[in-house]
Amino acid sequence: MLTALVNGLRTAPRPELKGVCPGCGQQAIPKCGEQVAWHWSHKGRKHCDPWWENETDWHRAWKTCFDINLQEVVQKDAATGEMHIADVKTQIGTVLEFQNSPMDLEEMRSRENFYRNMVWIVNASTFRQNLQIGNVRLPAPSASFLSDVLLMAPIGFFRPSTFTPGLNLQLLHRMEEIQAEIDAHHIGHFTLEWKRAREVWLSAKCPVFLDTGYSLLELAKYPCGSRQLGARRVQFHDFIRLHGGRVSHMMSTTRGWIQA
Ligand SMILES: [Zn+2]
Repeated sequence: MLTALVNGLRTAPRPELKGVCPGCGQQAIPKCGEQVAWHWSHKGRKHCDPWWENETDWHRAWKTCFDINLQEVVQKDAATGEMHIADVKTQIGTVLEFQNSPMDLEEMRSRENFYRNMVWIVNASTFRQNLQIGNVRLPAPSASFLSDVLLMAPIGFFRPSTFTPGLNLQLLHRMEEIQAEIDAHHIGHFTLEWKRAREVWLSAKCPVFLDTGYSLLELAKYPCGSRQLGARRVQFHDFIRLHGGRVSHMMSTTRGWIQA
């Protein structure tokens, strides 16, 4: 953890401090070594939030881009008493969850249901070689003309409204027929090829950004029963600024943008 309560105040770790976990009040012990970033260690073998994953410098670099009051924010469901700690909760109430390890579908859905207004940032450094952005332009997934377009880029597209029930053979239209609409609604998305795709992230309802280490790839999923996958590249600085943070020293050094 990066924050613990010291005399009731959210505080970053320092060697001489004694703190408590903001979630459960258990003792938090400052770990201020040279190998990993300074952090608090939760007393007891298990963290009080069952969704808490083993925190790495990747998590810490991201969290430090946001004000300490926006990091590790306790969220409680008033009706059920269920408690979780959001990695970051921005000033306008969007939860940012930084996910390093693989996650199963059930947990992903529970978290989306619990936080509702949230964004996933997934560490893709171990599978970025499986991701390939193509050069076929795609429209914004929200474009209204897609309500009757089943994209199969770059091959073409189908018009579900013309499907004849019971007929397996349907007319495949050429992309050129909707190229003008695609261009009018293009906001940076291109086809994405994802070998051995992690299905859990394709099923997410909330926005998913894959952190390749070089930039973020915002996944785009297309409506109308489509399996078309797209993505647009988003620069770290832009993403962080958009959510009210600024690139931290730790983010810069762990990414090699500046020398430590
Ligand atoms: Zn706790």
